Amino acid sequence: MLPLAVGMRVVLADHLDRSEDKLLLRGSAGRVHSWVWEENDLRPTCVYVKFDGATWQLDGAPEPGLYPVHPVRKVWKLDAKRKKPVLKIARTQLPLAPAYATTAHGSQGKTLPAALVDFNVDKRTDVTFGTVAASRVRSREDVLILRPFERWLYTRGAPEGPALLLKQLRGEEVDWEAFREAKAPSAACEKCKDVKTLDCFSDRQWERVRANRSAICLACGPSKGGQKTLKRKLPSGLTRLDCRGCKFRKLEDAFPRAQLQQDDSEAKRRCLKCLKKVGILECSVCESTKQISEFSSAMATMPWAAVCADCAADVRRQPKWGRAGWFTCRTCDLFFPGAGAADQRCLNCASRGSWAKGKSTCRKCGGAWSEPRGQGSDKRQRLCPKCRPKASRAKRS
Ligand SMILES: [Zn+2]
Ligand SMILES: [Zn+2]
Ligand SMILES: [Zn+2]
Ligand SMILES: [Zn+2]
Ligand SMILES: [Zn+2]
Repeated sequence: MLPLAVGMRVVLADHLDRSEDKLLLRGSAGRVHSWVWEENDLRPTCVYVKFDGATWQLDGAPEPGLYPVHPVRKVWKLDAKRKKPVLKIARTQLPLAPAYATTAHGSQGKTLPAALVDFNVDKRTDVTFGTVAASRVRSREDVLILRPFERWLYTRGAPEGPALLLKQLRGEEVDWEAFREAKAPSAACEKCKDVKTLDCFSDRQWERVRANRSAICLACGPSKGGQKTLKRKLPSGLTRLDCRGCKFRKLEDAFPRAQLQQDDSEAKRRCLKCLKKVGILECSVCESTKQISEFSSAMATMPWAAVCADCAADVRRQPKWGRAGWFTCRTCDLFFPGAGAADQRCLNCASRGSWAKGKSTCRKCGGAWSEPRGQGSDKRQRLCPKCRPKASRAKRS
């Protein structure tokens, strides 16, 4: 709570008077002059603030620059983004804030006589933070840095948005489509044919997208207990990686897993959108170059070992014992030369964390457990053996 004192420096926390001569906007500074506080009231009914450098004088005011500030009631919803917001909050406050403390964001555009700044911020802070905070004063003599800070604050390059805007203004070509794609990778739903972003697909269906296979969006998918979620909440702090094809920094989810699994992925990985643009592929078996349409779609994501449909069909025709040197991926059912990962999965499917190690995390107790997956059963257990309902445990044994 803000204690009041006569002579205290304050700034407006909100616009108060937009009339041309006064312009008492958010951030306007002044000093507390006096207040009206009825006995037994929680707060003053009015605080008089004398604003700096004002020449105007209100009717009946004893001196120029004096303006009454009244408490303001504000109502907002904590869950405003929900369909039916219910968490309503109301607060009555004086729209005043102490003038000597501000956030970097709030100080933007101001020129201060002096500043004591703290550069110890989280990495998620906007890239402009350091520059905004440090440049509020006219000279380096006017700034005092509170404590040592990390160098990365000033080595993060230009902010992405403004850099792209400048590029556009200079007349250089900007691939806006790729930019949007980098922020939120998208794919077309097999059923409704709409192009939708990552959060409109279930985790599992998105894995299919990453492997360049057909996928169904949440809206077209089955409903759970009569209710449908159209979007899933993405975890925060998703990893971003540079694509060596389009040079965009994209969400990890925009890359096929096979591209991230290859040796020297850092220098070679390409995003799904880039891989889809490739028209021809070389078959690693017959060594001929063919149109991409002559491969099964997932082959486009393979950094090597792509097998054309003809060669795959040849292998499939062989009896099982004749397929030496080949394996069928247990997840996507495609043929690949080689021995495959320990549990016979291709480069796309092997790296799906829980499958790679046969490990799972329990939905109920959060504990990890591992269990060899039964052949042919595609149903994944969500609960550890201890938490499973008795019936399903009995069925399994
Ligand atoms: Zn759909
Ligand atoms: Zn790319
Ligand atoms: Zn071939
Ligand atoms: Zn596979
Ligand atoms: Zn459990």
